[in-house]
Amino acid sequence: MTHIAVLGSLNMDLVTYVARAPQRGETVTGREFRTVPGGKGSNQAIAAARAGATVSMIGAVGNDAFGQRLRDTLEHSGVDTDSLRTVEGPSGTAHIVVDDEGGNAIVVIPGANGTVDHLSPGDEGVIASADALLLQLEIPQAAVVAGAEAARRHGVRTILTPSPAQSLPPELLAATDLLVPNEYEAVVLTDRADPRDAAAALLDLVPEVVVTLGAAGCLYLSRGAEPLVVPAPQVTAVDSTGAGDTFAGALAVALGEEKPVREALSWAAAAAAISVQRAGTSAAMPYRPEIEAQYS
Ligand code: ATP
Repeated sequence: MTHIAVLGSLNMDLVTYVARAPQRGETVTGREFRTVPGGKGSNQAIAAARAGATVSMIGAVGNDAFGQRLRDTLEHSGVDTDSLRTVEGPSGTAHIVVDDEGGNAIVVIPGANGTVDHLSPGDEGVIASADALLLQLEIPQAAVVAGAEAARRHGVRTILTPSPAQSLPPELLAATDLLVPNEYEAVVLTDRADPRDAAAALLDLVPEVVVTLGAAGCLYLSRGAEPLVVPAPQVTAVDSTGAGDTFAGALAVALGEEKPVREALSWAAAAAAISVQRAGTSAAMPYRPEIEAQYS
């Protein structure tokens, strides 16, 4: 079985649905409140586990009720949480207000994620035993760099989703094998408006790039090879939240299984297409038999 390590964030999303978001100083009555386990690290770990890999999650939750639920959510999807630490203090939270026009305003409080600023004893061994390491940018950059460099030392493929968009230090780029930005992140990283130009510019920094293009699929570039455009299956999307994480998790599994790149990208696109047809984030992520059925 393919083994994927994920180093990243876990957040409890606290989602409030309201007709209109309050102005400064105003109080409004909302319609509904939900707590939804998330964080890009946790989401990608669940996507990869459901896609059929053995997955180890490296990160931290707080010693509060949210922390226990975040851990339980991972375990429920079969993710190994032995490297998930529980630290004193609150878990990461994202406070999200969604209005009737679908607009949102979000405050993220890193909480326990902020304590993940280095690798802990044992983490390097977990990374070394994996086929790939999935990384995002919702924990301190120092840990992301340390994780990528540890993977590099052990010949483990590193796959980085550069979200939230921010400039990347040279040492992180030097230890990244595959960068998977969405269109917005590709533009922020390169200052090029066209995704094709952005992908080409990113290829100067890392050996392989996949720019995800929402319903238009994705664009893959690798040094010395022809670009590949892989379309997304045409489906009716009801909630695209987490599509990017589903794509990254499934892609890591497919590449870990040594599927050819075009096949791996189509497989990841199949997984993401299933997730956008369902409400929810990790709850919408497909299990392997569903991906196989959509793919064939
Ligand atoms: P999110 O932030 O919502 O998780 P993202 O912005 O990181 O997503 P996108 O480029 O929107 O990433 O989507 C990732 C992948 O998901 C796409 O490359 C595509 O394969 C799939 N996808 C997204 N939206 C759709 C859609 N409407 N129909 C089919 N596939 C989709």
